[in-house]
Amino acid sequence: MTISPSEQPKDASATVGPASPLRGVGIGLGVAQGPVVRMVEPAAAPEYATSTLGAEAEYARVREAITAVADELAARAEAAGGAAQEVLEAQAMIAADPTLLDEVDDRINRGAIAEWAVYDAFAGFKATLEAAGGYLGERAADLDDIFQRVLARLQGVEVPGVPNPGHPFVLVARDLAPADTAILDLDQVLALVTIDGGPTSHTAILAREKGMVAIVGAADAAALNTGDTVIVDAASGLVTVNPTDTEKARATRRSTARLASSEAPLAPGALADGTPVPLLANLGKPTDAAAAVALGAEGVGLFRTEFLFLSTAQAPTVAQQRESYRALLDAFPKRKVVVRLLDAGADKPLPFLNDAHEENPALGLRGLRALRASNDILREQLTALAEADATTDADLWVMAPMVTTVEETAYFTALAREFGLRTAGVMIEVPASALLADRVLAHADFASIGTNDLTQYTMAADRMLNSMAGFQDPWHPAVLRLVGEVGAAGVRTGKPVGICGEAAADPLLAVVLVGLGATSLSMAPAALADVRHMLSRHTLDEARNLAGIALAASDAAGARQAAMAAAFAQPR
Ligand code: PEP
Ligand code: MG
Repeated sequence: MTISPSEQPKDASATVGPASPLRGVGIGLGVAQGPVVRMVEPAAAPEYATSTLGAEAEYARVREAITAVADELAARAEAAGGAAQEVLEAQAMIAADPTLLDEVDDRINRGAIAEWAVYDAFAGFKATLEAAGGYLGERAADLDDIFQRVLARLQGVEVPGVPNPGHPFVLVARDLAPADTAILDLDQVLALVTIDGGPTSHTAILAREKGMVAIVGAADAAALNTGDTVIVDAASGLVTVNPTDTEKARATRRSTARLASSEAPLAPGALADGTPVPLLANLGKPTDAAAAVALGAEGVGLFRTEFLFLSTAQAPTVAQQRESYRALLDAFPKRKVVVRLLDAGADKPLPFLNDAHEENPALGLRGLRALRASNDILREQLTALAEADATTDADLWVMAPMVTTVEETAYFTALAREFGLRTAGVMIEVPASALLADRVLAHADFASIGTNDLTQYTMAADRMLNSMAGFQDPWHPAVLRLVGEVGAAGVRTGKPVGICGEAAADPLLAVVLVGLGATSLSMAPAALADVRHMLSRHTLDEARNLAGIALAASDAAGARQAAMAAAFAQPR
């Protein structure tokens, strides 16, 4: 796809009021148009009332509602597949949790109506999960969605969630629950616009994974009504309300050109001046490898090994691990495959590596710290990787997660070499290791920047908290400056510096990251096409210029807008 100057999005630096166009954060480069349909909003919390039906009838109502919701979530899980399947399966299990049902029954026994009993029991359960923190804390937000589904069943009203108007539409919602995003029918939902949420919210991540045209965090979209016609332009982050025929025709040309380019043969990632920028895939299971190759992944930039073992209580055996790694490596003959050692803790707790309660697990025993504390598990993983490596001709690189100090870097890379692993590096996700990147790279063969955690630790904003989404934006110049430190250290030491956080999947930010010194980019495979396209439109000099513009801003929104205005002003 080529966006000609006349078709470029409007001046991205223009001030936008409540009138059209509305501004948000675009996911990818897609453009779509159609009639708005608003999402059904959740019902208000029910008031307490004493049952007139009697306890037995209330029990029966609750069981009918909860069973129907659990069955529906399980069916959606099966239909969804991928990352969404796991989220939905977890939701179905929560809905059917016997402890939760006991809590509801207890309130009914004391005379309450089913609606209030469910409401109060869910609220108590949610508080318990939130107090537990980590993975369980993350699941707490899902309870609201499950509760709304059960309540709608009990009240006999439309379930809040994605409507089905019987024609293709642009879905406008405050935000989407994972259950909703997962089952969106992409033949019907032409585009998604959310009022809340940021570029790294779960909605943005799932939208990217599904290759949807989406704009998140468009606060003024609250004024949109079902029946309005809109153009959703993710490349510029603008929603045009009631567009003119000319604007509609222009959007149609852009989406046709985009479709044609997605069917063109896949080329390796490169800038407009030919500078290669290998485009790699972030994977969590070997079975996802084929789809990534089909989308043009030139290798793997991040294989998250902990995803294989999130639900197991015991450490996996060497044999189990070896088979998984071998399956992965076999899918990428002669290609680079970067495997990350178990990143346990905080948002990804593994019971066999993190058993102690910590007040602040993101600042505790996680990543390489947790592996070092369980040296047997670390050694077993390196053994399994070395054994798998010996049987394939993929180019295996290994890296340690959450490396903070130079000493940790030296420890890990020496250990990996002891196991015969040729290429050993570290993830830079903590400001400390970014600031000392030249000393870190003196010991490591490469660095890979995890922008999700680097943003979390730079901005002191928990990446799991939706309420902190405004801070969790990798466009922030402070984060970019740290990336630039690592990029410059990579140039000085002659070592590769990859990016494997969500930031690499944002097409324009990807160009900026290359301008800051990144030598490869790794992302969810669905994002590869847009990133490949955006790289092909900028030379290295232009990328450096855009990086300078973004670094000079005072905040994330300013950096994004200034870079966008400059990028779209370029003649290509
Ligand atoms: C990151 O932190 O950016 C990263 C890639 O690792 P994860 O998201 O798995 O923590
Ligand atoms: Mg990380």
